[in-house]
Amino acid sequence: MISFNVPIFIGDELRYIEQAVKNHKISGDGLFTKKCSSWLESRFQAQKVLLTTSGTSALDMAMFLCDFQKGDEIILPSYTFSSTATSILISGGVPVFVDIRPDTMNIDEGKIEAAITERTKAIVVMHYAGIACEMDSIMEIAHRHNLKVIEDAAQGMMSTYKGRALGTIGDFGCYSFHETKNYSMGEGGALVIKNPAFNERAEILREKGTNRSKFFRGQIDKYTWIDIGSSYLPSELNAAYLWAQLQCADEINENRLASWKKYYEALRPLEYSGKVALPTVPPECQHNGHIFYLKLLNLQERTKFIRFMNDNGVNCAFHYVPLHSAPAGKKYCRFCGEDEFTTRESERLVRLPMYYGLTTEDLQKVVAVIKKFFRRNF
Ligand SMILES: *Cc1c(COP(=O)(O)O)cnc(C)c1O
Repeated sequence: MISFNVPIFIGDELRYIEQAVKNHKISGDGLFTKKCSSWLESRFQAQKVLLTTSGTSALDMAMFLCDFQKGDEIILPSYTFSSTATSILISGGVPVFVDIRPDTMNIDEGKIEAAITERTKAIVVMHYAGIACEMDSIMEIAHRHNLKVIEDAAQGMMSTYKGRALGTIGDFGCYSFHETKNYSMGEGGALVIKNPAFNERAEILREKGTNRSKFFRGQIDKYTWIDIGSSYLPSELNAAYLWAQLQCADEINENRLASWKKYYEALRPLEYSGKVALPTVPPECQHNGHIFYLKLLNLQERTKFIRFMNDNGVNCAFHYVPLHSAPAGKKYCRFCGEDEFTTRESERLVRLPMYYGLTTEDLQKVVAVIKKFFRRNF
């Protein structure tokens, strides 16, 4: 069976974890946490990056820093992971969905403005498959209406939009280092902060509402509880695992992009003949090979396709059930405008096996099974 995902392991992870143990520092904000956040700051030219316990906790922190009041409205796509919406809910905001573009599966920047009311406080974008949203238009709309922009860049580590790293364009950016992402620490993430005015409160939120970070730096002589917060600081053991990968970040990125290109070239003939649709990468976007997807005719064909792939030794997956049609989405959120593409396009999409170290042999096997499916069925 060819797996859909294999969690990344580059080789040096265990050596660094052992170092953390020998340093007698396995809780957070030790050597490896600092190495990782400094690396992210300098590589992406970010003012401040804080490692977190997950992509979800980075999103939670971003929403708390925006200081939403009960009933404030936050615009986001419905085609995204649940965390994008749950983070809004726990901060007191109301998620308001708008439709996506069928070409990139990202929020349709042309449909955002119609959803803005006097209660709107922010736009949350999600860069699907590491391919950027149309950020110039989105930042311009946000600026005109005085809205915050939060980038759910969980899938966007190492991707760029007009040369700028995803996660660093909006007010806040959130990465995920879950085992399904391009770089991993098991469970983990990072928050990118654009405006230094938020740095201090971010550190406090992350340290259970205390100013312990300031204390550790020797800036104060005792620490105390001063704000809301939670346990968003990851263990050194997890940071040590991530550090091994950051040191070969380019190699990992190139490996995934090479697999992505092989799929793309091999499946183009099927696209020409109208049997599948392949991902679109706008010219201003450099992506990171996070996901390779195909789109089939409709839900029935996708179901048949996934079953056929499985029966032939290839594990494929689909996502997302649009949030507005999920039980919690119906209860807490609303969709603004028409659902022209969100449901229809999400039902057509299927993801192929994609991970660091996918062999050419396995990739060719996946392609061969896909071709067999279309010979069989059309
Ligand atoms: C993975 C992911 C998250 C959540 O990240 P965790 O680290 O698992 O909490 C959030 N948003 C998107 C779009 C994701 O793909």
